Amino acid sequence: MTVGPPRALRVLGPGKVRLEPQAPVAAAAGQVLVEPDLVGVCGTDLEIIDGTIDPAYIRYPLALGHEWTGTVTGEHPLAGRRVVVEGVIGCGHCVRCAAGQTNLCDTYDEIGFTRDGAAASQIAVPETLVHPLADSVAAQDAVLTEPAAVVYRALARARVGPGCRALVIGDGTIALLVVLLLKLWSPAEIAVLGRRAEQADLAAAAGADSFSLTDAASGCDLVVEAAGATAAVETALTKVRRGGTVLLVGLPPHGQTVAMAADDTVNNDLTILGSFSYTSAAWRAVVTLLNSGQLRPGTLITHRYPLAEWEQAIAALRGAAGPRGKVLLEIR
Ligand SMILES: [Zn+2]
Ligand SMILES: [Zn+2]
Repeated sequence: MTVGPPRALRVLGPGKVRLEPQAPVAAAAGQVLVEPDLVGVCGTDLEIIDGTIDPAYIRYPLALGHEWTGTVTGEHPLAGRRVVVEGVIGCGHCVRCAAGQTNLCDTYDEIGFTRDGAAASQIAVPETLVHPLADSVAAQDAVLTEPAAVVYRALARARVGPGCRALVIGDGTIALLVVLLLKLWSPAEIAVLGRRAEQADLAAAAGADSFSLTDAASGCDLVVEAAGATAAVETALTKVRRGGTVLLVGLPPHGQTVAMAADDTVNNDLTILGSFSYTSAAWRAVVTLLNSGQLRPGTLITHRYPLAEWEQAIAALRGAAGPRGKVLLEIR
């Protein structure tokens, strides 16, 4: 049951965030009504709040919340079940959707970006995107499904081979998820080039073999840029071996460019990959890993706040001292 009157954490426009009463939400035909339990916040939410996100990917005003898990409510066969819900809403009939590339649908539509997100007491979502979870899956693991799907899709795209020597640049939640998920591909070594010494223990717990702030091995088979910084992209290009792959998962600020020696890219036979969001297949793969107990990303959670204390959650996200992994809002 919802505790207290219905509320939603809304961004009215850049710099204008309010916790507001939420009008009753009704599920239309083909929709399911869900009561969110936990919502993760991330750097992209900060970009939405600050107005620094690429305007092509946002529609104000909206409720925040694209990383979440909830419980189905109302008159529905799934009522009472914990679920996660794919946020990318493909049209289902364009060429990209037909090819399974739902992340590249001709019409960009995503929960928490172009329509209301889940930092609210209730949300109505398309029934086809609802994934029930096994009773054994804890909400604190399920809430990380979205960023895990983003990372899973990127790593699958990079065709990581067993025995791979990997370098992960960055030490935020996405970088830590890269380390956690890379293990599924049986790498020989995962090194992390971090930014804050306080993140070393989190990186080790995720499965990193080494953590450094200053130097990292060169000649890596795979270098993953997960810091979301243009300088990190430039570093990545110097750390990859000939014939290796640079995978860009982080999202540097909109409009910044990177200096790149184009001839080195040719001479070194490099593969440079970007990966946008996740496909339905990647989402299903993560749900399978959660349901089978092979993936428990809740270990990366370091901060939790009731929805009413959302300002502290945002402050923690911007720069809490000490170890900082996933920051959560408890909706109910
Ligand atoms: Zn996010
Ligand atoms: Zn489509």
